[in-house]
Amino acid sequence: MVSRVIPVDDFDLVIFGGTGDLARRKILPGLFRRFHAGQMPSTSRIIGAARSEMDQATYQKEVAGALEEFLPKDARPKDQIDAFLDCIDYVKIDAMGEGGWSELSSKLRSGVVRAFYFSVAPSLFGPLAERLHGHSCAGPKCRIVVEKPFGRDLESAKALNKTLRDHFDEGQIYRIDHYLGKETVQNLMAVRFGNVLFEPLWNAQYVDHVQITVSESVGVEGRGAYYDKSGAMRDMVQNHLMQLLCLTAMEPPSRFDPDAVRDEKLKVIRALDPVDPADIVRGQYTDPKKGRGYLEQVEDPDSITESFIAMKLSVSNWRWAGVPFYLRTGKRMKARYSEIAVVFKDAPHSIFGQDQGRHRNVLTIRLQPNEGMDLFVTIKEPGPGGMRLVDLPLDMTFADALGPEAADVPDAYERLIMDVIRGNQTLFMRGDEVEAAWAWTDPLIEGWTERREKPLPYETGSTGPEEAAMLLHRTGRRWREIRP
Ligand code: NAD
Repeated sequence: MVSRVIPVDDFDLVIFGGTGDLARRKILPGLFRRFHAGQMPSTSRIIGAARSEMDQATYQKEVAGALEEFLPKDARPKDQIDAFLDCIDYVKIDAMGEGGWSELSSKLRSGVVRAFYFSVAPSLFGPLAERLHGHSCAGPKCRIVVEKPFGRDLESAKALNKTLRDHFDEGQIYRIDHYLGKETVQNLMAVRFGNVLFEPLWNAQYVDHVQITVSESVGVEGRGAYYDKSGAMRDMVQNHLMQLLCLTAMEPPSRFDPDAVRDEKLKVIRALDPVDPADIVRGQYTDPKKGRGYLEQVEDPDSITESFIAMKLSVSNWRWAGVPFYLRTGKRMKARYSEIAVVFKDAPHSIFGQDQGRHRNVLTIRLQPNEGMDLFVTIKEPGPGGMRLVDLPLDMTFADALGPEAADVPDAYERLIMDVIRGNQTLFMRGDEVEAAWAWTDPLIEGWTERREKPLPYETGSTGPEEAAMLLHRTGRRWREIRP
């Protein structure tokens, strides 16, 4: 099967923070891949904007360096790189000052899509929005892309929403959560709503529980000062895990369109019960051998910020009444591994007898390292020896069936940037969604902060504190294995 690449409209994209880590690692390589695939028109302009003094040729060299560093050699033919670099320009700009803005304004073309990517510290989001407006860079076809974190609590998220909406309509604001750009996350929607097989079973009658794991093997490393003000709840649960939960638990939207999908996600967040503190386990990694534990990597030696959190959530509606949703995420875990697992109930009666043990269907949606989907089904173990049952995965990634192009899926960032250019907000968070997520998160954080609750220590390379396992063991369930 040949993949269809539909070119997007001609655009001008300004990357504020065009010399930063995110631009170098994800945004620019992603744009190059879309250029190489024929999706980005060669007439488009990408304008890096940052505080460094630099001319166009020097920035082009920087971009070439980033592509070399972050793309494999065979993915960057020289003629394509040269053609891509022709699209690159640069403006020295200070988000907090007035210098550079008229130059930027003069570089922007009229009649093409205009996008501004805020790949800078969140404190600059407001000043950028104000200046874009004040210097007449914004227009009706213009969009802004806002990186995480979107606020650090409900109050700051509301203030940020207000500042952005003072200058842009909600339809122009693209709050990015790169988890939503992952192929398998979208496949979750295709599987749920494009088949008759799953949706009838997708409820409390047939689902025993859901597990969402986002496990990282790295620690806070050089980002200790930033991370310690945030923690796993703010950094991962409020946004990424919450979005995965919403897509898993939401009702079928009437159409696959931005507001229909986001309305349904919002209803899930609003249906979340407050969480009993007994259903939350917070941890901090230790590393006595190397002296690189969490407390050694942050400034405050008495920090009570968590680098791990596991929790049990309830979605209070007819579909999910009584079905626990278990979430866990942490740093310095056994492996980098992320998945959603929908664990179905046992068959009501086994005709094969007790000694065949318990068998369950599990649908797993793996986000990393290798994106894919598996449906575990119970079958007879082949060969003689009677009716022995085993649970085996049916690979639902279908890469073989779809041909080699299917394996070459766009990275989440490149897909999302193309959606910005197309003007499709389905995979971006709406302002009310973000506020609802903070409204649910804030009391939990306030609770453990007021109680001065210390996170439990866990060893680097483990699966988190023992108590996280107990969260499931108390009801006879267990976490799925985190596979290296
Ligand atoms: P960075 O520190 O590497 O880069 C910051 C960029 O902002 C630089 O280009 C710098 O020149 C520019 N800058 C700083 N002050 C400026 C000013 N006053 N005016 C104009 N430009 C200014 O940061 P980063 O890691 O690239 O992160 C950028 C944003 O993306 C942050 O909001 C971060 O939270 C978010 N983010 C980053 C990652 C990542 O992997 N790096 C992942 C998710 C989200």
